[in-house]
Amino acid sequence: MAPVTYAGTRRSLIRGEITCKEVVSSFLEVVAERDGHLNAFTQVDADGALRRAEELDGMRAAGQVLPPLAGLVLAVKDVICVRGWKVTCASRMLSNFTSVIDATAVRRLVEAGAIILGKTNCDEFAMGSSNESSYFGPVRHPRCAGYVPGGSSGGSAAAVASGMCHAALGTDTGGSIRQPAAFCGVVGLKPTYGRVSRFGLVAHASSLDCIGPMAHTVEDARMVLAAMAGKDPKDATSADVPVRAHRGGSIENLSIGLPAQYFGNGLDAAVRSRIEEVAERLREAGASVRTVDMPHTGYGVATYYILATAEASSNLGRYDGVRYGYRPDKHGTAGVESMYVAARSLGFGEEVRRRIMLGTFVLSSGYYEAYYGKAQRVRSLIRRDFDRAFRDVDVLVTPAAPVAGFRMGSLVQDPLQMYLSDLYTVTANLAGIPGLVVPIGTHPEGLPIGMQLLGRPFEEMHLLEAGRAAAEAARR
Ligand code: GLN
Repeated sequence: MAPVTYAGTRRSLIRGEITCKEVVSSFLEVVAERDGHLNAFTQVDADGALRRAEELDGMRAAGQVLPPLAGLVLAVKDVICVRGWKVTCASRMLSNFTSVIDATAVRRLVEAGAIILGKTNCDEFAMGSSNESSYFGPVRHPRCAGYVPGGSSGGSAAAVASGMCHAALGTDTGGSIRQPAAFCGVVGLKPTYGRVSRFGLVAHASSLDCIGPMAHTVEDARMVLAAMAGKDPKDATSADVPVRAHRGGSIENLSIGLPAQYFGNGLDAAVRSRIEEVAERLREAGASVRTVDMPHTGYGVATYYILATAEASSNLGRYDGVRYGYRPDKHGTAGVESMYVAARSLGFGEEVRRRIMLGTFVLSSGYYEAYYGKAQRVRSLIRRDFDRAFRDVDVLVTPAAPVAGFRMGSLVQDPLQMYLSDLYTVTANLAGIPGLVVPIGTHPEGLPIGMQLLGRPFEEMHLLEAGRAAAEAARR
């Protein structure tokens, strides 16, 4: 079955061949058929989605112009607030917490006509690369039995890939949009830091977190980005830079860099050769391709896991069972402290507790300079690698992960190996630059293969254009 793109649905809606209600109903059928097994959703609101579809159909019947995303059926990662819905963060801690606000990104999409179908499962508090740390159980790979969908936005990736929605919102702190997009064979965009407001996103690591779209095509991802981007008075880090149309360069003017350090020994041979093949096709089509040097890449994972856990340990301090979150019925008799200890020990899962401990450690006074201070300085060096590379090339082409996928249970007992698998994605978050993943083929083991493209800050349109060209070259 060909994927249901929003651009295609929109054409049919405009021609009056279908209604929004029919669109929603057909996605609901797929959810009913597949989600029992995939576990991609934590919540689905069939009635609410159908009601909203009827409203939009009513607007059309009354002759009103359809808003830009009318009838776009959307899934929202369950770390992003939607008023009246639970925002569980896939954690016991918030399993019963209902949001009273709409995230700005969500509000803008709904105003543009999107219909929210459900909230998607993910790693607990978006910490993980396999979607196995959710309190609600793991998400399964939509195509390959026994494999993880990637993480932490694995539910969003699986929901799109299995045809349960047009598009989904994910979040990307160190790769959580791009890696699951690659594993599941969909398009995923991590925008420039500040491009999309973080208001209403439950904070993981505030200097790295980004909300972004996951969709079947580059075009659909572009439409979702355009509707939710922009300055927001409620997020001081949101940027006032317009999402301009692409500057119109053709493929002949595109210069591509292949960073040597992203094609090292640990990279799966089939993933490497597929990426090189597609880069070669882009070169044949007129792009220039060269190797570039990014000497600090190898420090990315260590730097990321110091800074991200430091920020997370501070952000997660608020869940104490008093102001927010799970409060156990029974706890020790040592007063308020034993109540905190019980709430946080039982409310958080193992991975989240590990990160709070690690983050607290690297921020502790005796070690602050040795870890956190040092990591901040290395972060600047990594950013400088990108600044230098982008003087010579427009986009960098890399793998999204060292492998096309891995089996459920294979890394979850070995957190360090899991962290190391993030080496190709964390650098973009540390530098604040946009990153896009597009599907470019199938691995001999049957898993999809994705290609990552990295671009200059706020040049998402250019990046999307290059991604479209790459996806097309891969199909030829
Ligand atoms: N896998 C990374 C981590 O576990 C990235 C997570 C994310 O981007 N939310 O921290």
